[in-house]
Amino acid sequence: MRVVVIGAGATGLGVAWDLALRGVDVVVVEAHEVGVGTSGRFHGLLHSGGRYLVTDPNAAQECYRENVLLRVIAPNAVVATGGYFVKKYGDDDNFERRWTHQAEALGVPIREVPPAELRQALPMLTPDIERAYWVPDGVLEGFRMLTMLVAAIQARGSRLLERTRAVGIRTESHRVTGVEVEGPDGHRTLDCDAVVNAAGPWAGLIAHDWGIDVKVQPSYGLMLIFANRRMDQVVNRLKLPSDGDIFVPHQEVVILGTTDVAQPCPDAPEPDRLEAIRLMSLGAELVPDLGSWRVLRGFNGVRPLYEPSGLTDDSRTVSRDFAVLNHGDRDGLAGAFSVLGGKWTTFRLMGEVLGDKLAESLDMRLPSRSADTVIEAHRTTQATSRRHPVDRGALLCECEGVYESDLDNETASQTQMRFGTWFSMGPCQGTFCAHRVLGRRSAAQFAQEMAWLRHEREHGLNVVGWGSNARLIALEQATKAQTLAEDLS
Ligand SMILES: Cc1cc2nc3c(=O)[nH]c(=O)nc-3n(C[C@H](O)[C@H](O)[C@H](O)COP(=O)(O)OP(=O)(O)OC[C@H]3O[C@@H](n4cnc5c(N)ncnc54)[C@H](O)[C@@H]3O)c2cc1C
Repeated sequence: MRVVVIGAGATGLGVAWDLALRGVDVVVVEAHEVGVGTSGRFHGLLHSGGRYLVTDPNAAQECYRENVLLRVIAPNAVVATGGYFVKKYGDDDNFERRWTHQAEALGVPIREVPPAELRQALPMLTPDIERAYWVPDGVLEGFRMLTMLVAAIQARGSRLLERTRAVGIRTESHRVTGVEVEGPDGHRTLDCDAVVNAAGPWAGLIAHDWGIDVKVQPSYGLMLIFANRRMDQVVNRLKLPSDGDIFVPHQEVVILGTTDVAQPCPDAPEPDRLEAIRLMSLGAELVPDLGSWRVLRGFNGVRPLYEPSGLTDDSRTVSRDFAVLNHGDRDGLAGAFSVLGGKWTTFRLMGEVLGDKLAESLDMRLPSRSADTVIEAHRTTQATSRRHPVDRGALLCECEGVYESDLDNETASQTQMRFGTWFSMGPCQGTFCAHRVLGRRSAAQFAQEMAWLRHEREHGLNVVGWGSNARLIALEQATKAQTLAEDLS
């Protein structure tokens, strides 16, 4: 039994993991590199369900269940920070009542926190807070989880084909028998018994290629990253989810999110400076001193929301729940499935539900094992550097402490290296380390990879190009001109 999964984000890898554990031969095809889509562009929140208690009870329950489970099966990629929901004076009392009622009804644990406890944990918050509740929010180390999932599926014999785009399917008698792909080996067909469309925001386009109508509503969200981990718990505002109302501590930084804007196409738009300024002022409603925090960059991610009733202008109203479609039952295309919507937090559950439907349709009696199988820690380069403080070779990235020995895998893609070490993601945003790290590549690869990384870093930096960042941008350009003899014009 072979299944081709399209897309190597959280959803595709979650599906691949569940199927691999059932003994299925899985091939994951990824048009670019693992995690370049939404799964590498999110807040990093391991949802407790608190955010969706009122608006999306199903999603809230799923998130809480997976939150508890992931702490057990993936402890190396989860940090149990805890989080707070805070209500400012003047925020809707009725919403608070409904929220606490739903928490009890759905079994999501919350605890009211005395103001003194909140002030002690989070002294940077506005004093204008009327009430606060603790919730079991956490942090999901997305880069690490992706790396662990890839290693886990490969260890079970599954294959990942990066830079390989699915371009169509082959069918016989209305049943899928192969997936057409284009990649480093040119155009070829991967024989299979089933195909899973896990292409996130692009899932609607994949379905369209199959002649099927699936309404995926892409909606982008801008997030800002602040240097220094100035808070150790997640902070949410206790009101209807809206823009700029959540802070997540992530490794050495804090992420403020987010906006929610419906868009017609799945590609992430360039971040916009006016939007970033607006997000800053919304964030300052919770952290009055936010303007003095050094903001490293802004970035957009695109939610792959599933909207069966048709596309909308108001993406906040679209459910955060997920859907698994069996296109055999729905559209007469046997062996084709789509898994849509959901959250990073629910990636495992999405894999399990998809696996159950696929097994049922192919009459396979193979139960899911993903809820009770530990996803092993992968030997990420970052962990290695912490374990062996000597003999590391030259220091390549001062911000993240990356040494030559941390990059001993010559075949690793740039994304794998960045996910493993975080080079270029610290305060200098690659100004001093990018050419040192990528200089280890061949000349042709160096030019190509530097161009990509610069484009990516510059857009994130320019969107917050005020204050000290304006000076950093000028310094970066001058450094490039001096060290790489580039034209400044
Ligand atoms: C602003 C924002 C903040 C968020 N914050 C959180 C959070 O804090 N916590 C949380 O739990 N969730 C969060 N989410 C939601 C979560 O990030 C997404 O639900 C999840 O990452 C979606 O993963 P995916 O695998 O479905 O999509 P993606 O990660 O986008 O993966 C799809 C993959 O398919 C590939 N692909 C596309 N077309 C093809 C093709 N033809 N052939 C081969 N491959 C193809 C793409 O290259 C891509 O890698 C957030 C989302 C956004 C936008």
